[in-house]
Amino acid sequence: MKKTLSAVCILALVLALAACGSGNNGAQGTASDGSSGGKGGGKGTIGISMPTKSSERWVNDGANMVKEFEALGYSTDLQYGEDVVENQVSQIENMITKGVKLLVIASIDGEALTDVIQKAADQNIPVIAYDRLIKKTEHVDYYATFDNFKVGVLQGSYIEEKLGLKEGKGPFNIELFAGSPDDNNAYFFFDGAMSVLKPYIDSGKLVVRSGQTKFDQVATLRWDGGVAQSRMDNLLSANYTTERVDAVLSPYDGISIGILSSLKGVGYGSPDKPLPIITGQDAELASVKSIIAGEQTQTVFKDTRELAKVAVKMADAILNGQKPEVNDEKTYDNGVKIVPSYLLTPVSVDKSNYKEVLVDSGYYTEDQLK
Ligand code: BGC
Repeated sequence: MKKTLSAVCILALVLALAACGSGNNGAQGTASDGSSGGKGGGKGTIGISMPTKSSERWVNDGANMVKEFEALGYSTDLQYGEDVVENQVSQIENMITKGVKLLVIASIDGEALTDVIQKAADQNIPVIAYDRLIKKTEHVDYYATFDNFKVGVLQGSYIEEKLGLKEGKGPFNIELFAGSPDDNNAYFFFDGAMSVLKPYIDSGKLVVRSGQTKFDQVATLRWDGGVAQSRMDNLLSANYTTERVDAVLSPYDGISIGILSSLKGVGYGSPDKPLPIITGQDAELASVKSIIAGEQTQTVFKDTRELAKVAVKMADAILNGQKPEVNDEKTYDNGVKIVPSYLLTPVSVDKSNYKEVLVDSGYYTEDQLK
């Protein structure tokens, strides 16, 4: 009896020790040379700093990267700054202190990380800018993103096509929204969309009744749907009491949802007052459902699974002393250098192709969209 018990005890001890050595997340052992991460995932810890959980896409981005990094034997430290710049900075500082091997960062404010990234550089920690460019530092090594100008072109072209502008139809009323002024992407999206829409505004086929056509007038701080909703309320009461709005350029699904609430609040969405064309971005679940229900009209799908793969491949190459694959070395000037980038291709999605693009690819199941 005693013998069996002590055998059981030894077995339990062995298992407990083995478990200690295989933890994936969290604290890492510190080697005598001060480096960390020797235990855990084996290859060390990657710090992943994301902007906010309030938007589904970033939750997916984070989860996808964790999965991919762990499959390669890395541990991960994934943190969300919840759209507060100071949170993100201190989370990154903590990662540096813990001795992460590399940082992958989707910034909240692309110009606010210069000092903390200098700290990473001082520790020889490479930095990959994820989706959003990090500006004003020479120490951002690579950039993994989508063709952001094209995102805007897809939104603008969708409006052009659905209104029949190429066929000479019009004039139509349109209002414009842009993303957050501290996010470099917001300018690319807006410029891309305006590359299609501006000629029609200039020729009078598109009329912006509010007169607000400059980025600064139409930007939405932190991509906040509530901020967009209040702006739309104001636009509607000031300019559309007798006129109807035919299209709204929206850069992001969360903003589109805010705009929709505002429109519905003044009676749009009924047979005699149909909703305008409303674009979006990210193919977030609520927006895809809204598209299926005939409310939001379009979104731009950016496959976060693919972006996560690109970033993880880049990181693994850097950590193995290889040169990561890039496909653009001229577009993304961060004010100090042109950051070598890998751009993925965004896809326009509406009611006619959501099944093929989102369900057939396994991004969503049919059930999730019910
Ligand atoms: C991303 C978009 C996203 C937006 C708001 C941008 O930087 O590229 O995909 O819609 O941030 O989160």
